[in-house]
Amino acid sequence: MTIKEVLQQIKVSSARSVVEKALADAKEVADYNALLSLTEERALARADEVDKGKITGRLAGVPYVIKDNFLAFGGPSTAASHMLEFFDTPLQATSVEKLEAEGAICIGKANLDAFAHGGSTENSAFGPTKNAYDKSCVAGGSSGGSAVITALGVVPFALGSDTGGSIRQPASYNGVVGVKPTYGTVSRYGVVAMASSTDTIGPITSNVEDAELLMSIMSGLDKRDMTTLPDFFEILPDAMPSQKIGLVKDFMSEHVDSEVRARVNEYIEKLKAAGHTIEEVSLPMAEYALAMYYIIVPAELSSNLARYDGIRYGHQAEGAKTLAELYGRTRGQGFEAENKRRIMIGSYVLSSGFFDAYYLQAQKARTLLIHEFNKLFEQYDCLIGPVAPSTAFKLGENVADPIKMYLEDIMTVPASLAGLPSISVPAGKSSAGMPVGVQIIGPMKSDASLLALARSMESK
Ligand code: GLN
Repeated sequence: MTIKEVLQQIKVSSARSVVEKALADAKEVADYNALLSLTEERALARADEVDKGKITGRLAGVPYVIKDNFLAFGGPSTAASHMLEFFDTPLQATSVEKLEAEGAICIGKANLDAFAHGGSTENSAFGPTKNAYDKSCVAGGSSGGSAVITALGVVPFALGSDTGGSIRQPASYNGVVGVKPTYGTVSRYGVVAMASSTDTIGPITSNVEDAELLMSIMSGLDKRDMTTLPDFFEILPDAMPSQKIGLVKDFMSEHVDSEVRARVNEYIEKLKAAGHTIEEVSLPMAEYALAMYYIIVPAELSSNLARYDGIRYGHQAEGAKTLAELYGRTRGQGFEAENKRRIMIGSYVLSSGFFDAYYLQAQKARTLLIHEFNKLFEQYDCLIGPVAPSTAFKLGENVADPIKMYLEDIMTVPASLAGLPSISVPAGKSSAGMPVGVQIIGPMKSDASLLALARSMESK
């Protein structure tokens, strides 16, 4: 279901009937556990306003879903955690405000790994989300709920956040389009912070055209997020012809599922047939990207999560006799195991004895990775490879082995560490019928060009 189709439905029926149907469909697929709450009352009230002509815009009446780490009115904003289970927000995220200003209607909040820590949505405090193509498989994550609800056709689009792959990987596991923009393209104001130097906001859609429209609406400077860039995103009429594209061979090793490689190679053949040139390139620092990521990101998130102290907002433990006990109990009860693991790693690598050995070293390696990307972009318009080493794995398969789980992020974290735009587009299915995604990474601010290329390939 595309935005255009939904707008057409609204025209022939009404925003109210379209929103009612989306809400009914959402209830029908409740067993996927993709949504944590429905913002029913507010959604219907807004739909009526659209029908009366009081709300207008490019998305007037179009229902959508937001990952539940975005602050939005109409229900709690939980980040899939007990810490924020009953947190009623006093404000809305800038990205949500921009969509609302165009008349879009949020119908619910999507499940995620608690505080976006994870790649399968199994770390949610409220149970895992199931894959849209096979309920015995993971949704991917951490924006698993957003990807599944879009793939099931309940809404034409959903918002996600991507710190190290959380939009791209679930999009790939569920056969939908996912956009991780250039760092700073979309304001993060009002989104629960994970790792401030790699957090990004983007759409999950059923086609590329919709992703372009949403990016053009959400991008731009926000004085409440000092990292935002002046708006550079512009929908391009056509893809740049005869592009020189680098196939990242480090992402195509024998450790990668052969069917994933096969689908990527087929996509490459189509790119060639469309007049583009593909050459193998290597990104040697990619081997260390995961190690850098799992030092830098825990460091940043341990600091960002320090605000959940049981005093200012969110959960507060009962019965504590001292301040230290209050902190300890509150955080013990409010965070999931994965949150705690990362807070401990982050505190460790930032501690005075280990800062130089781990955190500083990781930041130096990150600079080398950025240099490698820059060098490649002197010669290539963009880079291509798989999104993840496998298709969606079985629920429970990796839960007991965090390292194995982290390995799923090996191809998405490099672009995150370098702040580069990277998109995930469907590239067919495995013989078991599971979706495979292809990842296209470009230089800073090439978001529009990556999407134009993906759009030009969609019908091929
Ligand atoms: N899977 C990655 C992680 O666990 C990415 C998370 C994200 O992008 N929010 O950190």
